[in-house]
Amino acid sequence: MRNVVIIGSGCAGNTAALYTARANLKPLVVSGHEAGGQLALTTLVENFPGFPEGIHGPDLVENIKKQAESFGAEYVHGSVLEADFSVRPFKLNVEGEWIEASTVIVASGASARWLGLESEHKLIGRGVSSCATCDGFFYRGKKIMVVGGGDSAMEEANFLTRFGSEVTLVHRRDEFRASKIMQDRARRNPKVKFLPATVVEEVFDVSKHLVTGVKLRNVKTGEVWQQDVDGFFVAIGHIPNTKVFKGQIETDPDGYIVSKGGARTNIPGVFHAGDVQDRVYRQAITAAGAGCMAAIEVERFLEAEGH
Ligand code: NAP
Repeated sequence: MRNVVIIGSGCAGNTAALYTARANLKPLVVSGHEAGGQLALTTLVENFPGFPEGIHGPDLVENIKKQAESFGAEYVHGSVLEADFSVRPFKLNVEGEWIEASTVIVASGASARWLGLESEHKLIGRGVSSCATCDGFFYRGKKIMVVGGGDSAMEEANFLTRFGSEVTLVHRRDEFRASKIMQDRARRNPKVKFLPATVVEEVFDVSKHLVTGVKLRNVKTGEVWQQDVDGFFVAIGHIPNTKVFKGQIETDPDGYIVSKGGARTNIPGVFHAGDVQDRVYRQAITAAGAGCMAAIEVERFLEAEGH
């Protein structure tokens, strides 16, 4: 039986692994279907403290993994297919093999929702991004497009006007889900141009490995046209990876884990870390901090049991 199994190998999971490994708990990390988490999809990270020149997202997350492994953390590939948190030891089905754990840290993250276009997928990290805070800086003086009609899209469009020469906000409907205050702020911003009732049909140019433009369609008139774009930001929501814990770990209506203070979930011995609980900050540094918190809680929890 494992002292602690960490589900997820993004910034939160790997940091939890580092801390629990240094506490001599020999953690096992289940990497998950998107090993490395969202950082594995980004390019240069310039806002993680300690790297004045910036660091590539995949390198950052791999470095934390190596650091954790150097203290004895073990990693298994694959995903948790089923979980039984009804009694301890907890049981996790990892790709068909059942693993028992005294404690669990859920750091399974939240996956950015994408439009689902093949061209979009191929250009992720090459002009297509799901994080304005991370990547906006690269589009100084460039043409930026944001997709979405919620608060995130409004916030990102506004934020991106600090960098871009123009920001076009594309939304599939005429009406916006975003709160009035966020919409008003974006509408008052002279650099934000609204394109409602419009869908993106393709992102160019896969052959150049770079975003150069998009094909758009007005859903009311059927008009189709192309527009030059350098940075393409998709802000259509995130999906927390909590499906396999449904009915056991308490989540809010959108599936985010409900925190019971610190890193605690509703199940004693099961802790949360990172974006699987955080819909607000969603940064590498906050996820790393949350991984540290969860690890310290595990240590104290096991210590109280006389471990
Ligand atoms: P959201 O509120 O779920 O909005 C997602 C938007 O993306 C909607 O406009 C939706 O269109 C659109 N969309 C979804 N799937 C799409 C698709 N396949 N193609 C095109 N468009 C698609 O997500 P969010 O904006 O990330 O916000 C999530 C939560 O965080 C909300 O509760 C929000 O209030 C909160 N938040 C708050 C702040 C803040 O207060 N500062 C900032 C960011 C987020 P439809 O409207 O047509 O469904």
